[in-house]
Amino acid sequence: MEVAKTIESVRNLVKAARSKGKKIGFVPTMGALHIGHISLIEAAVKKCDFVVVSIFVNPTQFGPGEDLEKYPRPLEADLEICRNTGVDVVFAPTTKQMYPQENLTWVNVEKLTEQLCGQFRPVHFRGVTTVCAKLFSIVAPDVAFFGQKDAQQAIVIKRMVADLNMPLEIIVCPTVREPDGLAISSRNQYLTEQEKKDATYVYKSLQKCQEMIKAGVTEIQEIITQMRNILNQIPSAKIEYISIVDADTLQSIDQVEGKVLAAVAVKIGSARLIDNIVVDVSKQ
Ligand code: AMP
Repeated sequence: MEVAKTIESVRNLVKAARSKGKKIGFVPTMGALHIGHISLIEAAVKKCDFVVVSIFVNPTQFGPGEDLEKYPRPLEADLEICRNTGVDVVFAPTTKQMYPQENLTWVNVEKLTEQLCGQFRPVHFRGVTTVCAKLFSIVAPDVAFFGQKDAQQAIVIKRMVADLNMPLEIIVCPTVREPDGLAISSRNQYLTEQEKKDATYVYKSLQKCQEMIKAGVTEIQEIITQMRNILNQIPSAKIEYISIVDADTLQSIDQVEGKVLAAVAVKIGSARLIDNIVVDVSKQ
């Protein structure tokens, strides 16, 4: 496995692989790799011949007062995981490498970034789409893999790729969870043992939503009220949002219909946790 620190070196490595006819898979991450990331890498190894993982804590997607400085950066452990999972190249650039000068060019996906996390993290998606556009242009993959854990991000990236005619396929992989349902996240490291137990109510609230839809409840407000009751059992929780929206457009709905995305964001202690499920009413 090669570790590329510069744009030039990763480009050369990918170019050499492509010249041998290899299909290039790409998994962008911020590191602190866990089994959620590993599931994306495994999907990439399965579908592609040459896999690039980027590890870059992208400053432009963090707002003021967010956890940019304290975000975990266990690079050696991450490289070991990549070595053991069949990654060909890790691209681990410095911030200076990615942003050598004041960034004046931004990619902004409208509408889809206005609700859910976009309401609470106003510069977040602009940072994500800009860095992904840069990474796609540097790595030039055939396929890039994202997690359903960040549902809005996956939808936004897919739209950017479509709108800008970027020549790659986006594959979205299922959310990997702890046995108790907690969605795996690098930010779970911020939780105390008690908070980790409390955090299981996040997925329980989503399961409640699924049960209610299955039972025929269609009134969104009724479902959200029940979900809120569950989340309120977490003593230290600050609920940012509980939303049930159209799963494709992320537009608000009053009644459950078609495919819906139920998404929550909750602050527990010093961690901001997000999770979601998609419920297809026609399949219930
Ligand atoms: P991050 O390092 O948090 O930016 O995440 C990198 C990629 O891993 C994103 O596409 C995430 O959606 C995905 N990811 C993070 N956690 C999980 C998880 N628990 N299950 C599946 N994918 C995940």
